[in-house]
Amino acid sequence: MDKSKIWLSPPHMGGEEIKFVQEAFATNWVSPVGPHITAFESELSSYLGIAGCAALSSGTAAIHLALIILDVQRDDEVICSTFTFSGSCNPVVYLGAKPVFVDSESLTWNMDPDLLEEAIRDRISKTGKKPKAIILVHLYGMPAQLDRIMNIAKHYEIPIIEDAAEALGAEYKGKKVGTFGNIGILSFNGNKIITTSGGGALVSDNIDYVKRARFLATQAREPVPHYEHKEIGYNYRLSNISAGIGRGQLKVLDHRVRKRREIFEFYSEKLSPYFDFVPEPIGHYSNRWLTTAVLKDTKLKSVVQLQQALELEHIECRPLWKPMHLQPVYKQNVHYSNGTAESLFNRGICLPSGSNLIINDLSRISKVLSALFC
Ligand SMILES: *Cc1c(COP(=O)(O)O)cnc(C)c1O
Repeated sequence: MDKSKIWLSPPHMGGEEIKFVQEAFATNWVSPVGPHITAFESELSSYLGIAGCAALSSGTAAIHLALIILDVQRDDEVICSTFTFSGSCNPVVYLGAKPVFVDSESLTWNMDPDLLEEAIRDRISKTGKKPKAIILVHLYGMPAQLDRIMNIAKHYEIPIIEDAAEALGAEYKGKKVGTFGNIGILSFNGNKIITTSGGGALVSDNIDYVKRARFLATQAREPVPHYEHKEIGYNYRLSNISAGIGRGQLKVLDHRVRKRREIFEFYSEKLSPYFDFVPEPIGHYSNRWLTTAVLKDTKLKSVVQLQQALELEHIECRPLWKPMHLQPVYKQNVHYSNGTAESLFNRGICLPSGSNLIINDLSRISKVLSALFC
């Protein structure tokens, strides 16, 4: 039996990336300015159907700038999804502001609208002021309950940052996620559905936000001949080389989404006796970035046992994200929980979902897992 390593979600080049990179070398645009950046920004904007995009060095940087643009200040509170990766909420702390964590509903695993409203009301009554922003995550590529959440945000007049780092290509009622909030953010880290070998983007229909993101990302340098600075900036631009890789990857994005969705279908067919899979609610179109599987009965096997069995067969898998309100670093933070994220964390794993997996790999993985239950 073939025992080559199977990774969780490795990069998958489409073939044209190298051409764009060679072009960058040939023209000596090997820097954080250059034609690939501008082209990548406009190609990404038209893919999403949004007015503008600033290509940045990471998704985390994009969230950091989004918070600054929405004027989040020291001691402000920002509502965050608890069921997420830390890059999603850490930038709140960079600004001296405070993440307030809200738990998930069980349909999409994303922010529970009822709990969100309860949290907003409770913060207003306890602190006398509204949370400054909401960072809404579409976890594992599954769109959140956007209608309800957007309505609540509108009612309380709180801006939304949509963290679509895991959800590029996913749609809600036919519209790409990342385009619903006041600002959307994306990640092109090596494990995401497409990669620039590290990178991110801030997108918005508000062009002033996009321009401000570019300005802050280039050290807040004023547009005069000498180096003039009126505020603190950051070095957050994407390089022209990385943008070249991104242009190649965008060309194959729809194939990647299709492939990841097929992988989900495969696992959910083969492994349904032992695991629950998250179906798509009506109107939600997931990119199935990672297929997640939740143990039906934890008395038979534990997440640790699954992970060990797969590791022995050189198959990489991961537990689900550990909720932020259970992280030691956030133990002082306020949270509104209903137990959903914690229960999922205790029962679920992410299965290898790379778009370059072949059918033999998938069979190998499902055989190892099925054998555990026999
Ligand atoms: C990957 C990720 C980020 C951060 O993106 P980077 O490009 O790695 O900084 C933020 N939020 C979520 C939900 C992510 O999965």
